[in-house]
Amino acid sequence: MWRRRPRMRRLFGGARVGRLEERTLLTQAHELFSQGQYLQAAEIYERLAPSAPRRAASFYLQAGRARLYAGQAEQSLASFEQGLLMLIERSRWRTARRIGAQIVAEMERLKHLPQAQALGAWLQQRMMGFPQVSAPEAAAPARRPRLPLKCPSCGGAVNPEEVEWLDGETVECVYCGSSIRAEGA
Ligand SMILES: [Zn+2]
Repeated sequence: MWRRRPRMRRLFGGARVGRLEERTLLTQAHELFSQGQYLQAAEIYERLAPSAPRRAASFYLQAGRARLYAGQAEQSLASFEQGLLMLIERSRWRTARRIGAQIVAEMERLKHLPQAQALGAWLQQRMMGFPQVSAPEAAAPARRPRLPLKCPSCGGAVNPEEVEWLDGETVECVYCGSSIRAEGA
C-alpha cells in the first residue's frame, strides 16, 4: 500500500501552514529545541518559514541553530545564510551583522571552525557597501530594559539582538509576533 511520507516535503517549502496549526507547531518546535530534539525542531522551523514571510528570517536562523546543535554544522550554513539574507533584504542589516557575528562566535565555541570561517567570509562579503556600525549605535541595545528569556505566548527564546522594539519597553516576538514587555516595565 502506498503511504505518504510527510517528512519528505518539509525542507524549504511544502504546503502552507494555517494560523492555528502554525501556533501549535511553533510551540512544539520550541519544546523540541529545549529538549535537545534539534533535528525535529529544525524541520518544523523550516516548514513554518514559507507561511510567515515577515518572520521567516527568524525561523531560518533558529533552524540553523537547531542543525548546528544537532552536529549538522555544514547543513546549518544554508539556513543561517537564508535567514541573514532575509534580514538584509528587509533593511535590517545591522541586526544581520550582530546576529551573524553571534552565530560565528557560537560555531567557534563549538569548534566548527571551517563553518565559522565560511559564514564569517560570507557575511563580510554581504556586508560590503553597508556602513560600519558606530560605537554608540552598537552599544544601544545594552541600555534597553531587561527582556524575559522566553516569549510568554509561544515559548520561543528571546534574543535581545534579534528582536525589534515596538517602543521603549515592548518588543515583538520574532516567532509569533506577540508583544513582549520588558521586565519591570
Ligand atoms: Zn512568541
